[in-house]
Amino acid sequence: MTELLPNHLAGRWQTGGGPGTPLFDPVLGTELVRVSNAGLDLEAGYAYARDEGGPALRALTYVQRAGLLSAIVDVLKANRDRYFDIALANSGTTKQDSAVDIDGAIFTLGQYARWGASLGATHWLPDGETVLLAKDGAFRSRHVQVPTRGLALFINAFNFPAWGLWEKAAPALLSGVPVVAKPATATAWLTQAMVADVAAAGILPAGALSVVCGGAQGLLSPLRPFDVVSFTGSADTAAAIRSHDAVVRRSVRVNIEADSLNSALLLPDAQPGSEAFDLLVREVVREMTVKSGQKCTAIRRIFVPASCYAAAGEAIAAKLSRITVGNPRNETVRMGALASRQQWESVQAGTAALRRHADVLHDGSAVPLVDADPAVAACAGPTLLGATRREAACIVHDTEVFGPVATLLPYEGLHDALDQIRLGQGSLVASLYTADAALAADAALALADSHGRLHVVTPEVAAVHTGHGNVMPMSLHGGPGRAGGGEELGGLRALGFYHRRAAIQAAGAVTDLLDGAVPQRSMPGH
Ligand code: NAP
Repeated sequence: MTELLPNHLAGRWQTGGGPGTPLFDPVLGTELVRVSNAGLDLEAGYAYARDEGGPALRALTYVQRAGLLSAIVDVLKANRDRYFDIALANSGTTKQDSAVDIDGAIFTLGQYARWGASLGATHWLPDGETVLLAKDGAFRSRHVQVPTRGLALFINAFNFPAWGLWEKAAPALLSGVPVVAKPATATAWLTQAMVADVAAAGILPAGALSVVCGGAQGLLSPLRPFDVVSFTGSADTAAAIRSHDAVVRRSVRVNIEADSLNSALLLPDAQPGSEAFDLLVREVVREMTVKSGQKCTAIRRIFVPASCYAAAGEAIAAKLSRITVGNPRNETVRMGALASRQQWESVQAGTAALRRHADVLHDGSAVPLVDADPAVAACAGPTLLGATRREAACIVHDTEVFGPVATLLPYEGLHDALDQIRLGQGSLVASLYTADAALAADAALALADSHGRLHVVTPEVAAVHTGHGNVMPMSLHGGPGRAGGGEELGGLRALGFYHRRAAIQAAGAVTDLLDGAVPQRSMPGH
């Protein structure tokens, strides 16, 4: 039997009971390690995080906690090569795709360390300006934000075992809130290894960072009113979390990042042969193939003027036909595996459902695998579909296939395009391709209520834009409606989730003291 990975809880390493759940290499099908949290006393572990980790973190200032983040960055950088090995084995990703997860995590942590250093040697943050409650100013209101005295439980999806942990943990730890991480079982190894390295380095106070691997059974029951939960995963699990007693009766604050049918939109000015057209084609291909399309932000729907439909389909399919798929240990392979054979089956089923209503413009199932056995490996070639019939296209706006699959859709006029995009019921991101700045601004604003991020690609940013699906810590990550309604990142805004806001109504003498003590920088509202 393979090694059973221990959990880090209540400040010590604890092995779960039973044989555990095996984690596999999705290319070779071999078993790698096992995970289990059976028999763990979660109640006691959470209490330890709240009672030991919380006070120790809150005793530090924002600047000191920013220093902890920097020290974590150093540890992760020192162990980076091993993380790539684990990602290759357990996620089946190419080096470039592993970097999106691992280097993305390190970059995000480093960015929060830099922002945190600017927050000052303080234990609380001002929120807006002090306002007068009495005409002569004798009585005033000052809003403050203070770290919540609970823990932050992170329940993550399988696709980002590194970034998924640290993009949440960076603002939480900077805020002074202890973290309990529960990675998705299929790829939990990398998360566990990173926490193990940080624990071994002795950077954080005891109880500040825990990891619980294995099933989610009983995870939410020990939560208390000042705890928070940040979840990334499917809409079904999100619904189960939202309806849990901890949330419904104990008002545990929840942030949900769920599935999303993100769009790319070629605006009407951009015809075949234009730079904007080529930029859309390039970005669609990148989004479909990076991490085998297993990005919550990946482009699933591609909207082009009806007059460009055939040309766009041909251009995207031509580029997809050059993508090599298979074992990422072979250096000629551009696209590795999906995270598991189960995920592969889910992608096959989702693609088959879409194919019943769409034309196949590039067939991923016909792509021969490099150095991988199709009966074993969770590798799937990229598939481009096209849906020209409106009734048939309905399923495209409602079905997220979490893999290298996207659908091309024609539109008749900009309003039609915007209406069709909104059929996604709220998404994380839409990208717009045009050479017309005014048109881009109008379209971005028109979609802003139904998206967390609008990514505008015009020719002058061709070489510098950060990519449709790349989540930068400077910008909001999350989306309304179907996307879960959550908000993460977006600079220091992210700290709001881990703070409690209160108004202090008092005499000017009191608010003057608070105003005098305030650090240089005020935190934007959450
Ligand atoms: P999932 O099945 O919902 O699992 C997500 C996490 O929830 C896992 O850690 C899972 O643990 C845990 N979980 C399962 N049942 C639970 C329960 N009843 N209570 C509490 N936690 C529970 O999602 P997935 O299949 O791993 O991820 C794919 C989905 O995530 C896609 O739909 C994708 O769009 C979405 N996603 C969204 C974002 C975003 O930022 N918006 C990012 C990435 C992925 P186990 O693994 O142990 O079952």
